[in-house]
Amino acid sequence: MKIAIIGGGVIGLSIAWEVTRRGHQAVVIEKSRLGRGASWAGAGILPPSNAATAIHPMEHLEARSDELHPQWAQRLKEETGIDNGFQTCGGLYVARTTGERASLLGRASEWKERAIPFHELTRAELSDQFPALSQTVQDNAMAWWAPGETQICNPHHVQALISACRKQGVELLENCGEPKILYSNDTVTQITIDPNSSAPRAISADAYCLTAGPWSGEIASRFLGQASDQSVDTEGDPLPMLPVRGQMLLYKLDTAPFAAVVNEGTRYLVPRSDGHVLFGATIEEVGFDTSTTESGIANLTEHAQSLLPQLSENCLVKTWAGLRPGTFDGFPYIGPLSHSSNLFVATGHFKAGLHLSPGTAEVVADLVEQKTPKIDLRPFAPSRTKVSS
Ligand SMILES: Cc1cc2nc3c(=O)[nH]c(=O)nc-3n(C[C@H](O)[C@H](O)[C@H](O)COP(=O)(O)OP(=O)(O)OC[C@H]3O[C@@H](n4cnc5c(N)ncnc54)[C@H](O)[C@@H]3O)c2cc1C
Repeated sequence: MKIAIIGGGVIGLSIAWEVTRRGHQAVVIEKSRLGRGASWAGAGILPPSNAATAIHPMEHLEARSDELHPQWAQRLKEETGIDNGFQTCGGLYVARTTGERASLLGRASEWKERAIPFHELTRAELSDQFPALSQTVQDNAMAWWAPGETQICNPHHVQALISACRKQGVELLENCGEPKILYSNDTVTQITIDPNSSAPRAISADAYCLTAGPWSGEIASRFLGQASDQSVDTEGDPLPMLPVRGQMLLYKLDTAPFAAVVNEGTRYLVPRSDGHVLFGATIEEVGFDTSTTESGIANLTEHAQSLLPQLSENCLVKTWAGLRPGTFDGFPYIGPLSHSSNLFVATGHFKAGLHLSPGTAEVVADLVEQKTPKIDLRPFAPSRTKVSS
């Protein structure tokens, strides 16, 4: 079987790697550069889960991904020599304001219900384990320790996936512009790359996957625009999507201040083992704009320094922004697109696409093979949010 994948972020690349591991052929069609969207821009935090207490399909998807991440990290390293930085570093959760305390208590009760290990740190334990934070996390703050939190270094992970795909014979096509999807009688028949050039290239496959992050909504609309030309009822927005910008900071210290991820409200600090420290992120609805702003960066730098004073402007090496692929109910879209028998969607993972990518790849590979996935995908059906115009 041949699978053509539109969009070369972590989701598209993971699906390509998984289907070729199962003996199929894959081609990834990327508008610009492979893996340079949200998958590169993100932080790589994988919050803890518990397969034993998972009830909702989203919890099963998280738990299955957590089971696969260490296996994928090992296989990627064996196949490519690239270490994706997977490590169980633990997560410190701090709350210094009333609002943060309320939200942390909510999270703690969820962890308790799901039997996800965590405990409160005493003042002495905090000073002992995180001396770098002892001046900033004061007595009236809350600090909880979640030992199961893990991280991957996402740029390395994506690089490893590209390299592994290449070694498995996946055809990786970059800088393809806007490919055109051709459609006839419920079936995608072909994708044309460079449709307006003198030498357009046609790609035919047995199944097609739409994994273009927040751009997937526009692509689905264009695609179903053709379907409506064919007298199919396609009223409404087939795949409502919301790009949500996140600005990020990267610092370089001589050595890592500690290994754990530190979470505070919507902000987090992620130390990499080589002394780089990520600090993020803003949450902004500004359309498809990936620029950073003076106020966004100023707000983040101030917050970073208030948490870890070592993060002075002298150590700031880089800032950037990426677009999280958001949906209107917080769940990803995974499943066949309406009016199509062979076009599958896998997008909308919002803040958790790096986390959920291995589990998503597995269920999408099951779908294209016409097997029933082990996870109930009904809450993720792309047709669930059809919004009438
Ligand atoms: C600041 C920030 C922090 C984050 N932190 C975390 C985190 O800690 N943990 C976590 O799990 N997740 C995190 N995320 C979310 C995560 O990065 C995303 O959910 C994930 O990367 C989405 O992957 P994707 O492959 O769907 O999208 P992308 O990586 O955006 O890839 C989509 C690709 O499709 C391509 N494309 C677009 N249009 C077309 C077209 N017409 N034809 C062909 N290709 C096209 C794009 O160029 C892009 O390369 C974060 C995101 C951001 C922005």
